[in-house]
Amino acid sequence: MGAQPGRPAGAVPPLIFPVVGSVSYSDDFGDARGQGRHDGNDLLAAKRSPAVAAEAGTVTLWTTSARAGCMLYLRGASGTTYLYVHLNNDLGEANDNRGGCVAGVAYAKGLVDGARVAAGQQIGYVGDSGDADGAAAHLHFEVHPGDGAAVSPYRFLRAARRLLFAARPGSTFTLALRGTVATSLAGHLSLKVDSLRSWPGGVRVAKVERTVELQVPAATIVTDPLGALLATARLRSLEPGQSATAWTAPAPATLQARLGLPLTLATERVVLAG
Ligand SMILES: [Zn+2]
Repeated sequence: MGAQPGRPAGAVPPLIFPVVGSVSYSDDFGDARGQGRHDGNDLLAAKRSPAVAAEAGTVTLWTTSARAGCMLYLRGASGTTYLYVHLNNDLGEANDNRGGCVAGVAYAKGLVDGARVAAGQQIGYVGDSGDADGAAAHLHFEVHPGDGAAVSPYRFLRAARRLLFAARPGSTFTLALRGTVATSLAGHLSLKVDSLRSWPGGVRVAKVERTVELQVPAATIVTDPLGALLATARLRSLEPGQSATAWTAPAPATLQARLGLPLTLATERVVLAG
């Protein structure tokens, strides 16, 4: 696979941020922790937030470490290896530890050991397995250039691109974006998104906390929560502060769409809540 031209072997390429949704983190690499130094950064996020491939590569599932819990290795095409540690092991909302390190709980649905994955494809769910049991859900993320010693992920994370949702590049996706109307003009809706679901897969991002600029084609319909037609978008402007769920028209999962760049997503239906 080798290094890309102009980049030394083992150099870390520009990354996709490994967690989708609102995340808090600091450069805690090297901090003293129980049995040694902290070899990564802890990315705190809502439980079950999608963990996605930071670059294209091959995953190795690892299910037998008491400290790491459910984890995986992503061996990137650049030669850098990434560790995803403390993935989800709960079945319900509580800390039940009943899920195990299996696809659909810790790992993305259908993900198998040795799978090749695209950058930004979902590979896991954020959780609290291993010695993070009962702590705030977080992804312990490590970066090993050239598959060697760990370096701080921090500057790579700061520069990484943040996805609005996880999808396999080129697949056809639909989103349900739930939030509050910020502004609404002809053909355009600015929605402060609290949470979303994406299909295929129905993957939920519980905490988005991001304003998304949507195209609103004239054919977009506006309904009440039971589906009763209120108006077409052309006839009705949405009031700022109104709670709404915007459904996007099925579209190819380009990088621009997955990043949620302004006006790359178009509505098909807007459901007003109350
Ligand atoms: Zn950690």
